[in-house]
Amino acid sequence: MNFETAAIHSGERPDKCYGALSVPIYQTSNFVFEDIGKTRGYDYTRSGNPTRKVLEDTIARLEGGHAAFACATGMAAIATALHLLKVGDHVISCDDIYGGTYRLFQSVMSRFGIEITFACLRSRAELEAAIQPNTRMIWLETPSNPLLNITDLEMVATVAKERQIMTVLDNTFASPFFLQPVSFGIDLVVHSTTKYLNGHCDVVGGAIVTTTPELSREVGFLVNTMGVAEAPFDAWLVLRGIETLPLRMARHEENSFAVARFLKEQPGIRKVYYPGLADHPGHDIARRQMTGFGGVVSFEMEGGFDAACRVLRKLHLFALAESLGGPSSLAEHPVTMSHASMSAEHRQRVGINDGLIRLSVGLEHIDDLIADLMQALSTED
Ligand SMILES: *Cc1c(COP(=O)(O)O)cnc(C)c1O
Repeated sequence: MNFETAAIHSGERPDKCYGALSVPIYQTSNFVFEDIGKTRGYDYTRSGNPTRKVLEDTIARLEGGHAAFACATGMAAIATALHLLKVGDHVISCDDIYGGTYRLFQSVMSRFGIEITFACLRSRAELEAAIQPNTRMIWLETPSNPLLNITDLEMVATVAKERQIMTVLDNTFASPFFLQPVSFGIDLVVHSTTKYLNGHCDVVGGAIVTTTPELSREVGFLVNTMGVAEAPFDAWLVLRGIETLPLRMARHEENSFAVARFLKEQPGIRKVYYPGLADHPGHDIARRQMTGFGGVVSFEMEGGFDAACRVLRKLHLFALAESLGGPSSLAEHPVTMSHASMSAEHRQRVGINDGLIRLSVGLEHIDDLIADLMQALSTED
């Protein structure tokens, strides 16, 4: 089955009871037992729910994983994945990651005796230098947030496998339509389904994709024990969103390319970050390991903080909002918004500057998006 077909037909569809074509929402906390110790497959929605199961089977199939677990939020999925670790373990993370993940590593996991090293994982030498005898996990994002840096997954997976270190990739930005991490040897994939997988800015959710029966058992145990699973209605919304993922991603990319090319020609812009641009660092790796470059474009204003604020205030169609992956275009200021929880020193080291603006390019007509950017960048009032 091709990706587009699997996005619509995975899991138990149509429903077994009445043949409902749209997956029914099993909005129930419990399920009646058939007899003592005998269920019809489900007993309690924290532990399992038929609506959520279709979503999990769909995500597992799209990622080429062994199983998937749908969680209440992306951070719930990330926090659960980190509970595969124990006190004394060491994690290496790429250094420009989602602000919330950074905060979880820095302020919470550290309290549980998990050691963390941030490194530039685009360099094999830097990755190898960061490895310690107690390193158990390598945490990756590619394209990264917000600078869209590209990490060579095959390289990292090879280094990790030699030392039996687990690799985890947050695949939120690319979505499985553009990047299939499991095929490069990544052990665990996490998602904020809030973004492209749902794609409509009307629900928060997350997912963990496993690659072996052992990992599936361990993650399934954690999801049930910690109580982080996604609610049935929310799971249904994500499921509905996924059916149009291929169409949406193609349009997000087409519009992003046009926006990136437009921005590159404008005065007052120091730098444009989009992995599809031939001069983007890592463009060749992105071309090799991805089937598309995604829907996020970042750019840095020459005038720094004031210039960025001016553009953000003047944009009309691009709403000033965090998050990404929905139909409507958004613009945000990483330093004061998505990456405010990252220390100023860390931001500076990785290159997240005051003049940086991150766009989530939506599904509107490209001419309207370009017109909005053009008027916002003009220096006339
Ligand atoms: C949004 C996001 C998260 C967190 O997901 P929530 O659904 O907001 O909890 C994690 N990683 C990335 C890359 C994200 O963009």
